[in-house]
Amino acid sequence: MLSPNATIGIVGGGQLGRMSAVAASRLGFQTHILSDIPNPPAGQVASHTIIGAYDDPKTLESFAKSVDVITFEFENISVKGIDLLSSIRPVHPSGHILRISQDRILEKTFLNGHDIPTTKWLKIEELNDGAKAGLELGYPFILKTTRLGYDGKGQAVIHNQEEFESAFETLKPHPLIAEKKVDFSCEVSVMVVRNIHGTVQTFDVAENQHKNGILDISLVPARINVDLRQKVQELAIHLANSLDLIGILGVELFIDQNDKILVNEIAPRPHNSGHWTMNACPIDQFEMHIRAVAGLPLPPAIRHSDAVMKNLIGPEDMALWPKIMATPGLIGHLYGKDIAKKGRKMGHVNILFPFNSLPGEFGIQAILQDL
Ligand code: ADP
Ligand code: MG
Repeated sequence: MLSPNATIGIVGGGQLGRMSAVAASRLGFQTHILSDIPNPPAGQVASHTIIGAYDDPKTLESFAKSVDVITFEFENISVKGIDLLSSIRPVHPSGHILRISQDRILEKTFLNGHDIPTTKWLKIEELNDGAKAGLELGYPFILKTTRLGYDGKGQAVIHNQEEFESAFETLKPHPLIAEKKVDFSCEVSVMVVRNIHGTVQTFDVAENQHKNGILDISLVPARINVDLRQKVQELAIHLANSLDLIGILGVELFIDQNDKILVNEIAPRPHNSGHWTMNACPIDQFEMHIRAVAGLPLPPAIRHSDAVMKNLIGPEDMALWPKIMATPGLIGHLYGKDIAKKGRKMGHVNILFPFNSLPGEFGIQAILQDL
């Protein structure tokens, strides 16, 4: 168990690191951020920021030596880099989980190997594999890069062989992955956290709606039946134990037309679809993550309210900020980013409702339209 005043190192300077650093500081910890850009959102609220490349051994070494334990807020640091950090200080979650989550093929292989269902998929190595994918998955299927995808980038929907050939040329590097397109009734996610003593907690299941490939709103609890919600949580617990997780993990899932649960992807860090916990739970995803990383006890991940979280993306949503600040009941969060570029996540707003009284679709749309 980390003592108060110890220092937690966070690799990555984005909003997830920022909100993790605030949670750490509330518990009395110091935080050091490693970022490859100056003045990162996380650096603004941390005790100290080290600026350097994530693949520079000297930078990694001096960062590691300056902290007591290390975690990360984004997944694209190299496994070699994580191995170097791990040779100096404990890193949670560990490099093997990062390796799995960085590669869609390793990820799906791990999941299927632990009886966790995913959509049907194929590894795509050469042009000839396209016809096979069409035959086995049916059209349309989804072609994705195996690494570095986010917010729907690095993906194409394939309706025929011609589209496959052009996407095969554009999407790099190879191999790629082809996934059967899921006709889902709902997309959901769940945050699961586990500590070194094997205590596991899960937050409630969120229902996620995307716009232009980017998360737009999360609704909690997800509007699926209670049994299904519980099954999603049980699956997340099984996954956390199978991974030997220490820290928090976001699990993205599809619920298909027959109420079948399919895992889409996993992210071993706080997750955008868990931001609702900041205001609807006594202990949010960031504090849970820091507790796990610091070896502290994990209390049950209870929720006192229902919630709607809306992302504030780009200049259009930033224009709503004065109204959000002026409207009672809207809880705004900004990430300290200077320029509101198109598609950039600038902040989010949480709206709470009494426990088990989330308004229906119409009510939610009315509230959001009113912004
Ligand atoms: P990212 O890393 O960009 O989040 P995802 O694999 O989560 O990549 O894909 C982004 C979104 O695209 C998903 O949230 C979902 O809406 C849609 N999507 C991805 N894969 C599939 C699939 N196999 N079937 C149906 N929709 C999909
Ligand atoms: Mg995703």
